[in-house]
Amino acid sequence: MTEQADRQTEITLTTPVQYLKGVGPSRAAALADLGVDTAADLLEYFPRDWRFAPEPKKISQIRPGETVCLVGIVEQTDYQAFRKTPFFEATLADESGICRIVWFRGKYLMGQIEPGQRLMVIGQARTYKHRLQLTNPKFHILLAEADQNPETFSGPVYPAGAKLASWQIKKIIQGSLDALVEQVPEFYSTEFLKRNAFLSRAEAFRQIHRPDHEEILPQARRRLKYDELFLMQLGLAVRRYHTRRRVPAFAMNRTEEMDRRIRRRFPFLLTADQETVIEEIAADMARSVPMNRLLQGDVGSGKTVVALYAALLAVANKKQAAIMAPTEILARQHAQSIERFLKGSRVRRALVVGGITGKKRDALTRQIRQGEIDIVIGTVALLQGDVEFADLGLAVIDEQHKFGVHQRAQIRKGLSPHCLVMTATPIPRTLAMTVFGDLDVSMIRHRPPGRGQVVTRRVRPQERSAAMEFIRHRLRAGQQAYFVYPRIDAEEAPAENGALKAAVEEHRVLSKNVFADYTVGLLHGQMPADEKKRVMDDFRAGRIHVLVSTVVIEVGVDVPNATIMVIENANRFGLAQLHQLRGRIGRGHSRSYCMLFSDTDNPDAESRLEMMTRSSDGFEIAEHDLRLRGPGELFSARQHGLPDLKIANIVDDFDLLTFARKNAFDRVRRDPTLSRPENTALRRALIDRFGASLGLADVG
Ligand code: ADP
Ligand code: MG
Repeated sequence: MTEQADRQTEITLTTPVQYLKGVGPSRAAALADLGVDTAADLLEYFPRDWRFAPEPKKISQIRPGETVCLVGIVEQTDYQAFRKTPFFEATLADESGICRIVWFRGKYLMGQIEPGQRLMVIGQARTYKHRLQLTNPKFHILLAEADQNPETFSGPVYPAGAKLASWQIKKIIQGSLDALVEQVPEFYSTEFLKRNAFLSRAEAFRQIHRPDHEEILPQARRRLKYDELFLMQLGLAVRRYHTRRRVPAFAMNRTEEMDRRIRRRFPFLLTADQETVIEEIAADMARSVPMNRLLQGDVGSGKTVVALYAALLAVANKKQAAIMAPTEILARQHAQSIERFLKGSRVRRALVVGGITGKKRDALTRQIRQGEIDIVIGTVALLQGDVEFADLGLAVIDEQHKFGVHQRAQIRKGLSPHCLVMTATPIPRTLAMTVFGDLDVSMIRHRPPGRGQVVTRRVRPQERSAAMEFIRHRLRAGQQAYFVYPRIDAEEAPAENGALKAAVEEHRVLSKNVFADYTVGLLHGQMPADEKKRVMDDFRAGRIHVLVSTVVIEVGVDVPNATIMVIENANRFGLAQLHQLRGRIGRGHSRSYCMLFSDTDNPDAESRLEMMTRSSDGFEIAEHDLRLRGPGELFSARQHGLPDLKIANIVDDFDLLTFARKNAFDRVRRDPTLSRPENTALRRALIDRFGASLGLADVG
């Protein structure tokens, strides 16, 4: 073997890019800025666009009827709005002549194509009124200096870096593509590829960087998207398997007698959603694999009741249960409502929060340690502090509105508790499958009966006084109202004061004029805690009729008689927040009204407000929000472990994601450590991607 050939065979997917053809230390540094360190990274540096253009021709050489590619300078443009069919036209010139280009209904091109630009057009030439013309051609605006390099006239277009032009990246990739593609392992059986019409992985990489023709691109993309989603799901499946297997849980038994006795505690019939969820939870708890389930449902959907069912099932199995909330206030609320259900029961329960100290606390913790308390209610500090359980069988964590399932039950000793996490933040299905992909998810979509309907309206400036009149009418009937002003994003700090000012100011105006004959209260974050509490107590007791506030209205505030919510500048709020705010009304039996005041017709805001008037389903709203804003906007990706996807998109590629998820979980079920020969390449890829954290590295 010659030395040259030897060098070629040395290239593998883990080779640092610096050693690839045409890359030295300085280009390697420029590539590193783009997140490309190894040959494999380079393969996954995907084009942002592809151009399929024949060799550019000089205008003077064009014959009518042929499909051509022209490159020239835009001399002038015009939009003919008043023609029967409006069109946008441009005159394109090169050294040899000029050509007229027409795009019918091309209004969208105004401001896009402008005189002086260098433009590439591809289309069929013809003569119209004795002049050469291209009608509705494809076009590319050749922006950067580098774009004038003939290299970029056809083929892939890469996202440029600060120090590397698109055509330079292209050259680097094309230079090594054949050698690299040879190294790409296949993950799946030929049979699987055939059944699902997938290209081979190597072929998909080759085609994405050097497509034979335009029609192959969707196939190449589909295969690579699938792989990306599959690897992500495989990582989640492996992680789930390993966290579950470590310490077993106590398998709880459920008899009809237990079920009957638990149900007797509830003065109502469970809803269909509650029944379903309880079945899911009981099935989980019956296994010796610790439950790891997320229960989602809007505030008031009846999650606490479900949690209590699970807790009582644990108690019936002679185990302890802990129910934990994010704040002390919420823990106290839980304790109160649980007390209502358990009045007269022999189940021993205790509230343990920071406010309980000294001898009383010591006595409680001793009882818990000795197994003399069955249900402990507290904050998540329960799992970290001095409290030690005799035999914890179930941990329920109510995360309320916070995202992220970080506080998994800590295992102290003995068996691992079953774990149920509850959240009132609807997480779209798509995200639940990714961010929380190693959890099982249950949902309560429909609220218990007997609650008043919430009608949501958007109110335009000219309808304002009519809306106020309507509110006065409701107040006369003895109802109460919230007026909420937006909290503005942190980066707009001065505007936050603006919001506060707006609330203070509006409070003055409303109490002097519109609602002069009522008591108008004010609540905002900068008030001392005791004053806040006083205002809330007055509102709850009906001594305050209208409550003006910034969005500090505490989570969990429950005033059934408040049936009106006005949200000022509603366009400033995100969907999730609007939905959350709206959850404060509709608590009582009468019909409630949510009024979205907005004076903008910005299309994004319109779309959000429209969605609010149309739907009261938190999941539907969350899904819509995800579509509007994208996952990156909704969640700070890093913090929530949202995987960094290069080609797939969890919203657009949802079907592929579902398919990948099923296949990944099946595979891990069959081969949990991925140690079978057919899984070698996958295991390697997972370790490359997720590092040692999955516990796979030591295997094989
Ligand atoms: P969440 O914890 O989801 O906010 P809760 O469990 O506190 O909701 O339930 C809200 C209210 O609805 C409570 O007053 C509860 O007693 C009541 N509730 C729960 N389930 C039912 C049901 N199936 N039928 C009638 N009322 C119910
Ligand atoms: Mg609750």
